[in-house]
Amino acid sequence: MKRTVYGEEHELFRQSVRRFLTEHAVPHYDTWEADGGTPDEFWRAAGEHGLLCPQIPETYGGPGGDYRSLCIVSEELAALGIMAPNLQVHSDIVAGYLLNHGSEAQKLEWLPKMVAGVARGAIAMSEPDAGSDLQGIRTSARREGGDYVLNGAKTFVTNGGQAGLYIIIAKTDPAQRARGISLFLVPREAEGLAQGRTLSKLGLKAQDTAELFLRDVRLPASALLGREGEGFVYLMRELPQERLGIAVTAVAVAQRAFDLALAHVRERTAFGKRVLDFQNTRFKLAEIRTELEVAWAFLDRCILAHCDGLLTVQEAAMAKLWTSELQGRIIDTCLQFFGGYGYMLEYPIARMFTDARVARIYGGTSEIMKEIIGRSFDES
Ligand SMILES: Cc1cc2nc3c(=O)[nH]c(=O)nc-3n(C[C@H](O)[C@H](O)[C@H](O)COP(=O)(O)OP(=O)(O)OC[C@H]3O[C@@H](n4cnc5c(N)ncnc54)[C@H](O)[C@@H]3O)c2cc1C
Repeated sequence: MKRTVYGEEHELFRQSVRRFLTEHAVPHYDTWEADGGTPDEFWRAAGEHGLLCPQIPETYGGPGGDYRSLCIVSEELAALGIMAPNLQVHSDIVAGYLLNHGSEAQKLEWLPKMVAGVARGAIAMSEPDAGSDLQGIRTSARREGGDYVLNGAKTFVTNGGQAGLYIIIAKTDPAQRARGISLFLVPREAEGLAQGRTLSKLGLKAQDTAELFLRDVRLPASALLGREGEGFVYLMRELPQERLGIAVTAVAVAQRAFDLALAHVRERTAFGKRVLDFQNTRFKLAEIRTELEVAWAFLDRCILAHCDGLLTVQEAAMAKLWTSELQGRIIDTCLQFFGGYGYMLEYPIARMFTDARVARIYGGTSEIMKEIIGRSFDES
């Protein structure tokens, strides 16, 4: 079915994104996976070509696109199998927090650098002892005179090893849970901020995911993002966009798995016929194709709702839950059509299998998505 969520200008943008990625990412991706990260040159070139923070207004150096331009970048990365760098964390999430909750001075300082790709964005919520239960974080931000002094440890920080700007979630009032949380903008060079290990992962090998340690990191009051004690409210406002972004990638990746599997079974033969000619293959692919149509339709409805400011926390959770679980099932079924080749990492489907697993974990696990959806049952 033809998608109607994008206009002509979005499709032109899509073409330029695809051209750029085909030239600047696809040929280098194996090297990035081996290196466990992406080079500065790519980020700068992506900035020059308008791929970074495309929703940011011209006042702050961006092209002034809408949320759909972020979706296009995510869809094109997924369609080409480019799972790093994690531009969603940079553009959709970190730039989103700045744009929606930052002071004018903070926006003017950071957004142009993020649009240009000279400062990568990262957000550090999770800690070794607190992930799903964000209100249980222990990183503290103590007031000292006019400053804040941060102490604590963060983990699983995407873009964490090479970021120029970190949004750090900390407790300004450790006695409180939600109301004690505040957000801080911490530059890479802040004294006392140290990167720990770059974590070795099951998949997403070219994404750099790191630990962070904060030891008496002294920040001026101007590093506070928004208001003290309001951090949890900001998280609740921004997490739907993060989850919708994961859903966009999930559906686009699942579509790629289907396309690759179909191409394979059309060529591969067994018992004197194409693998496509077995009824089992046709039935399974028919099911997947149908599920994908349903997924795109729901996703597009969520994208439009989000553009109109109407996507609820529950709907975003549903989108993330359904599409990330679907992605896992579709990739698993498609991998089977490749037989032994599906298990070989030189085949994209094998890497998709390992890359996709995390979609059911990060941005809030599937179980937490069900908790969020379930909460609406108590409301009248
Ligand atoms: C590759 C990768 C990148 C990441 N990037 C970032 C990042 O950039 N920034 C960041 O802050 N974090 C990041 N994360 C962290 C991620 O968001 C957390 O791993 C996730 O939220 C789960 O938290 P946890 O790992 O502490 O698991 P836990 O919270 O310990 O959960 C363990 C298990 O218990 C279940 N569980 C927990 N609570 C409940 C409940 N109430 N009901 C039922 N089941 C429950 C969970 O669903 C899970 O199955 C990343 C993680 C990975 C793997």
